[in-house]
Amino acid sequence: FGEKTWRGSEVLIGFPIIYCDKVIGCLLVFSDHFSSINDNDKNIIEKFVDIIIKGMTDLEELDSLLANNYFSARVNNLFDRLEVKSDQSELFESIRGICRAFFQYDKLTVILSDSEKNAKIKLVDGIREDADEGQEFSMDNSLHGLAVNKNKIINSNSWLENFPKLYRFFPGDKEKFNFMSIISIPIKSEGNPIGAITLERLKSRKYSKTDEKLLELLCSTVSTILAWQKEYDRVSLSAMHDGLTGLLNHKTFLDRFDEEIRRSKRFNHNLGLVVLDLDKFKSVNDTYGHLHGDYVLQEVSRIISQNVRAIDVVGRYGGEEFAVLLVNTDIEACLPLAQRIVDKIAEKVFLKSGISLKITISAGMAGFPLHAENVRELISMADNAMYVTKSKGGNAISIANP
Ligand code: GH3
Ligand code: MG
Ligand code: MG
Repeated sequence: FGEKTWRGSEVLIGFPIIYCDKVIGCLLVFSDHFSSINDNDKNIIEKFVDIIIKGMTDLEELDSLLANNYFSARVNNLFDRLEVKSDQSELFESIRGICRAFFQYDKLTVILSDSEKNAKIKLVDGIREDADEGQEFSMDNSLHGLAVNKNKIINSNSWLENFPKLYRFFPGDKEKFNFMSIISIPIKSEGNPIGAITLERLKSRKYSKTDEKLLELLCSTVSTILAWQKEYDRVSLSAMHDGLTGLLNHKTFLDRFDEEIRRSKRFNHNLGLVVLDLDKFKSVNDTYGHLHGDYVLQEVSRIISQNVRAIDVVGRYGGEEFAVLLVNTDIEACLPLAQRIVDKIAEKVFLKSGISLKITISAGMAGFPLHAENVRELISMADNAMYVTKSKGGNAISIANP
């Protein structure tokens, strides 16, 4: 070291300090004269090195034990903080926070599969130039789809050697970045893999058993939360929609109506309400039975939905009554839209089980703010207009009197 000159009889003995299969330093022992070092000294020094290494391993274990408790607390906290109805993006943000605090990585990726073969990247932290949030990829032949396809944990510090046939996300992306180590853990739904959380490092350093255990715990928590959210969506969807036709039910339609009125007031937009009631529908039931009547109601619902724009709101208002909100549309522009629905229903031949029938519908219309400025009055005016149509024989549309 430095400028010290050597007489020639000194001796320097070096022992490597090996940790996690890598030389991370050395212990150097200097002695004035080689004759003062014997074999036994070498053994003793070697033992010292062993103790240093053991101490470091113990410290890491102790560390991970402490971290473990803290980790569990953080992961459990996910349950407390996330509301079931909160959207997935909040969950993914929490995953990012936890991974940053507990793992070393150059890229964090969370994917969810949207079919048997395809997955969507829901979260990326770190390097994003190769594959970023929102992108979709085919899981076949991809390293990132492997944990899902195999339904098992992938943990490797040289994936290129272990899985030479795979690319990372997309064909030909191996060379873009020199990722070496990967740990990928499946997210499951009822035992079936539906996604994965994956950490990657550019350096070849294998993720430890502790990393694996912690990440597994995170994955199983995320799986549970996703299952909750899915169940919530399913239940709330079925509570909002009519079982027979799939249209918004009466209550939900009124809620949306309220919302649209408020929005229209704020943006100074017009709004059209069309109320529709099938003509002499009772005779369909009486002649062909209730089941056949149900089929007609389903077909009519389909025709109505198909003949409005995606932004418009359609509800089943009563048994054979429907209501449509034409958003951001003035009454003149509403008329052809509503007329088209009436015409399409009149044109349709309802054919099922060898029974062929035709039916018509009566419509009434009122506009915001032209006819009224609140839900109740608008409905009553559109209803009255619909009865005017009925009184004239049906199969037409009437506009409320201003
Ligand atoms: P109008 O031209 O005056 O509207 O006559 P209408 O027969 O259409 O009207 P009315 O109110 O007399 O009868 C409505 C019928 O709709 C009676 C009821 O059994 C039927 N209905 C209501 N909901 C359902 C349903 O979910 N399925 C079936 N099949 N029929 C239904
Ligand atoms: Mg009716
Ligand atoms: Mg009717």
